[in-house]
Amino acid sequence: MTRFIFITGGVVSSLGKGLCSAALGALLQARGYTVRLRKLDPYLNVDPGTMSPYQHGEVYVTDDGAETDLDLGHYERYTGVASRFTDSVTTGRIYSNVIAKERRGDYLGGTVQVIPHVTDAIKEFIQADISGEDFILCEIGGTVGDIESLPFLEAIRQLGNELGPERSMFMHLTLVPYISAAGELKTKPTQHSVKELLGLGIQPDVLMCRIDRPLPASDRRKIALFCNVREEAVIPAMDVDTIYQVPVSYHEQGLDAQVCRHFKLPSEQEIDLSRWRDIVARVRKPEGQVTIAIVGKYVQLKDAYKSLSEALEHGGIANNVQVKLDWIDSEIFEREDVVLHLEHVHGILVPGGFGERGAEGKIKAAQFARERNVPYFGICFGMQMAVIEAARNIAGLHGASTTEFGETPHPVVGLMTEWVRGNEVQRRTHTSDKGGTMRLGAYPCVLAPGSRVSAIYDAPSINERHRHRYEVNINYKERLEKTGLKFCGMSPDGVLPEMIEYPDHSWFIGVQFHPELKSKPFEPHPLFTSFIEAAVAQSRLV
Ligand code: GLN
Repeated sequence: MTRFIFITGGVVSSLGKGLCSAALGALLQARGYTVRLRKLDPYLNVDPGTMSPYQHGEVYVTDDGAETDLDLGHYERYTGVASRFTDSVTTGRIYSNVIAKERRGDYLGGTVQVIPHVTDAIKEFIQADISGEDFILCEIGGTVGDIESLPFLEAIRQLGNELGPERSMFMHLTLVPYISAAGELKTKPTQHSVKELLGLGIQPDVLMCRIDRPLPASDRRKIALFCNVREEAVIPAMDVDTIYQVPVSYHEQGLDAQVCRHFKLPSEQEIDLSRWRDIVARVRKPEGQVTIAIVGKYVQLKDAYKSLSEALEHGGIANNVQVKLDWIDSEIFEREDVVLHLEHVHGILVPGGFGERGAEGKIKAAQFARERNVPYFGICFGMQMAVIEAARNIAGLHGASTTEFGETPHPVVGLMTEWVRGNEVQRRTHTSDKGGTMRLGAYPCVLAPGSRVSAIYDAPSINERHRHRYEVNINYKERLEKTGLKFCGMSPDGVLPEMIEYPDHSWFIGVQFHPELKSKPFEPHPLFTSFIEAAVAQSRLV
């Protein structure tokens, strides 16, 4: 029997609902249950693929090629369950499906309304593509009280009624702020938020209260009384020093026991959280530190590189070191010498990116890494920049560039259709739809025997996730390989270069895919483990 847990948030945004949902998923798994996590986002964009990382953080890509909210990354990292296209939906997609049906005449001329048509579409999404999991956790994006989330809340209210409490549960995350002028914790915002939910017909079963200090018993009682929730089901969610402590601390506060109690499942049993405790212990007591420069564009907003910073931390955990990140806006290299900013670092990472702005700075960072033998990791755009660098500075291909920036005499990176059709140069037009026109999702890649990457993966072929339009141009393979740069990973048909490396360098690898999306704290991605290992070696040199 599949049970549904609906997770909403109140008072303010950024309370960490995604992490909270992921942690609950991990705790239920530790109790032996299977879980799947889903996200319902209340904005009108059809998917987050076209949203600015400045506003919305990273676009997380699933194996089946869906462009989703970064919370799906938390879900995967905490539970190890690969997310699917059917695990993420936005108001925009729901409405566009309903309107498409209306245009097709599927409603037979009936008046199409938010209730029941939109709410039915939401309920259908929540219950679709389930393969007998014990729990489906559905996180509703946004904050209770927003106009946009009303149809979602109405849909989960209806579903709660239809399924009954034995198959559904409502969990609400709020904030209990400490007002220093008064020297007091305040429960009023929580009371108001729950009132708002009650006004929509939803009675929360479990309250998670984000708080920066222990919650006194008297406040817990007060919240329980005013919010009509059992006292033990008011769970303090205290700030913690590392995100890996979250499941441990929620468990200690009784979260999973309360959820089991709600569903009349055994709640007393001991559960084994040693793998979480081990990671926390390693994070708290590292044996050293390395500094990695991330040379990118969206460096002001750390959420834009969420999976990346997590994957680097996983690499640190695997090597028992703390990874300090130096976020560098690549545009600075147009005004200041790279040496000034990169001399002290133990590794340089150029992440995924789009557009010409700041690209020259990334090319300079790749050049610095190559010439100084500093570990370099180029991801997607970062690989393309390293290829351009080699083309211009070693192969002597003046003006070599990517067609993403416009015309170039040497398109060492370009749209696939430009070179796979012989002499006939084809272009995908830039006026075509922006959404969904990229190479998205998991693709296989064959590793060259004897290459460094094949030793790192310890496998002849791999599967990694992509999100890009442009490709390294296979027609330049020979000229580029003469520079010492090896095409060490290729698509199975040999047409698309997927990985490059300089065998003579301490560690210089570029990948066309996004390995950070598959790294997990318990299963650090081999490329990140190896990159941090190289950085540790570098730290002994400088
Ligand atoms: N802008 C590049 C492309 O579309 C790289 C994309 C990326 O780094 N994700 O190919």
